[in-house]
Amino acid sequence: MDFKSLVSHCKEYGFIYQSSELYDGLAAVYDYGPNGVELKNNIKAYWWKSMVQMHDNIVGIDSAIFMHPKIWKASGHVDAFNDPLVDNKDSKKRYRADQLIEEYCDKIEAKIKKDVVKAAKKFGDDFDEAQFRSTNGRIVERQAKIDQTLDRMNKALSSEDMEDLKLLIEECEIACPVSGTKNWTDVRQFNLMFNTQLGNISGEEGKLYLRPETAQGIFVNFLNVQKTSRQKLPFGIAQIGKAFRNEIVARQFIFRMREFEQMEMQFFVRPGTEMEFYEAWKAKRMAWHEALGTSPDKLRFHNHENLAHYANAAVDIEFEFPFGFKELEGIHSRTDFDLSQHQEYSGRKVQYFDPELNENYVPYVVETSLGCDRMFLAVMSLALQEEELTNDKGQVSTRVVMKLPKAIAPIKVAVLPLLKNDEHLVKTAKDLLGEFKKHTTTQYDEKDAIGRRYRRQDAIGTPYCVTIDHQTLEDGTVTLRDRDTLEQQRLSKEEAISIVLKETDLANLM
Ligand code: ATP
Repeated sequence: MDFKSLVSHCKEYGFIYQSSELYDGLAAVYDYGPNGVELKNNIKAYWWKSMVQMHDNIVGIDSAIFMHPKIWKASGHVDAFNDPLVDNKDSKKRYRADQLIEEYCDKIEAKIKKDVVKAAKKFGDDFDEAQFRSTNGRIVERQAKIDQTLDRMNKALSSEDMEDLKLLIEECEIACPVSGTKNWTDVRQFNLMFNTQLGNISGEEGKLYLRPETAQGIFVNFLNVQKTSRQKLPFGIAQIGKAFRNEIVARQFIFRMREFEQMEMQFFVRPGTEMEFYEAWKAKRMAWHEALGTSPDKLRFHNHENLAHYANAAVDIEFEFPFGFKELEGIHSRTDFDLSQHQEYSGRKVQYFDPELNENYVPYVVETSLGCDRMFLAVMSLALQEEELTNDKGQVSTRVVMKLPKAIAPIKVAVLPLLKNDEHLVKTAKDLLGEFKKHTTTQYDEKDAIGRRYRRQDAIGTPYCVTIDHQTLEDGTVTLRDRDTLEQQRLSKEEAISIVLKETDLANLM
């Protein structure tokens, strides 16, 4: 399904609403509705279970959003958590300079792709894309333009050369998509941290930041957690929580938000062993996505060429969103940068005593950092489908179905009495509903014909529907309908409960 339909499905079925919609909305901020919050909680539960509960050497925390402002100085965020900002003087629209340049390169890439598709059609089975790309004059020239432009942009970003970014925009003759003019301001650094003020201290002294990542809450608690959980290296600390970034350009729905949630794990290791754990976590995290049923061709690794100041290796797991392959999760080898900085800025030792080596050192860190909302979008975009169905009479109809992994579906089972005005059917259905409620998430629906009720459940991804009819009153059996196979089985209530609970258990994903 296309992206627009996905966004409207999210709203129509109570997954996601624009924040403050009543007041015309607040850009890049979203609220999760009744089905959305269940799905999001289930995604978090899947992550927490597999990262924390399934690992003896990973423990969780929940640190506060507000932290001592010095922490953000130590971490480098006050000075370096910037994006290059540029305004078009005519449209007054703001852009990220690097994104303007990347989009310019994407357009050239699209032209290359067009030529490739044309040639593939022309040459048929004999077509060798790699050879074509490396020998066709026009493509070679265009590819060189992309490579040179991105290379120069990356160098300018690393050396914070804002003048060269502006020159590059001018030389590429990039125009504002809104005004169509090339009338740009200078490029300047824009800090992405939101700030606020403590009530009892005025001025700079009382300035507080809303955390732009959850990681620092873990670093500054390293000593507390290590001591109180009696963990030995290597071990990890995990956290799920809100993060805030004053993104300059926030488009693409919940892909880029100003308030979002992260699921992060920092794994502390002995210096010199970090690459081994980096590789292991890369593999483990990819396997986690695949265990949820995401097909490998929708996922790929993308190595960072431009390493952040604190990293000695970094890779993204990219997912093919409806708008192309984009970062879903980051895996970074952060060296001892953060803990050393906190040691320096706090004036306290942040070290680990290694009983095997009989020495103290600052541990190295490998982190896995997944955006909960991006994961939600990935899951939704994979699940939502329009399917053609043919009944026994050969009639074709379409249904909108969310083929969510059963264990994370918002509602696990819907209980439906065949008729709403038969008090025996209704009572039996409500009794069974009560049984299900003790264990799982349910919905009761008695309105409309049974087929329409099934469709409503399909549209929110409910894996099972249980129908109560007159035969139920006679022999206690019910009909269990499977969302994906559409198969309907007649079985006892106890069997139905047992199948639903077994098939929707998170343990199936472990
Ligand atoms: P991007 O390059 O897309 O801005 P990033 O490299 O800055 O992302 P990280 O700092 O590595 O992102 O953050 C870790 C994860 O947090 C990302 O992989 C992403 O899933 C999520 N994330 C980061 N920024 C946002 C945002 N503005 N909205 C939603 N999720 C985000």
